[in-house]
Amino acid sequence: MAQKKSQHEHVVVPDNAFAHRVRKKTGENVFQCYQCLKCSTGCPMAHAMDILPHQLIKEVQLGLREEVISSRTIWVCASCLTCSVRCPNKIDIARVMDGLRQMAHARKGRLGDELVPLFHETFLRSIRGRGRVYEIGMLMNYKFKTKQLFRDIGLGWRMFRKGKIRLLPSRVKKTKEIKDLFNKFRGV
Ligand code: SF4
Ligand code: SF4
Repeated sequence: MAQKKSQHEHVVVPDNAFAHRVRKKTGENVFQCYQCLKCSTGCPMAHAMDILPHQLIKEVQLGLREEVISSRTIWVCASCLTCSVRCPNKIDIARVMDGLRQMAHARKGRLGDELVPLFHETFLRSIRGRGRVYEIGMLMNYKFKTKQLFRDIGLGWRMFRKGKIRLLPSRVKKTKEIKDLFNKFRGV
């Protein structure tokens, strides 16, 4: 976004190009947002975000690409769709978040949160191999990568005792079809 300096102030000149790119990728027109805040007030993950959903949409409008793409918000969004159904202008904000995550991933720079994308990646790798997630294998993989071996171990043990985590892996019959699907959508 360009900034022009007058004698007494900075004048912010919005750059529409980023918003148009987001529209092309997601089909969502962020310029319809009039900042009513309904998305942010209903968001269950707002407490963990560095930019609230309505602020993020505003930043997209203004062309603040770097701020948006390197935000934590796009990774902690749980894709619950609450914001999308609350928006009076029918902007599918969850879809915008999805598109922004893809842009952040493709740019290969610093991510606003390293753990969430790593978890996504480990989860998908587990699905790709068996067509079904193997919780213990996936969690061990994730723990080794994050070097946080004992974090949440109490919670893991409680889940195991309640039968929420299986000791042995299982797989679907048509694993090749699952792999083909992954290959088909790789990089989309
Ligand atoms: S989809 Fe994401 S941004 Fe929207 S309400 Fe859910 S967690 Fe919040
Ligand atoms: S609910 Fe829709 S119109 Fe309201 S601030 Fe959020 S994106 Fe903008």
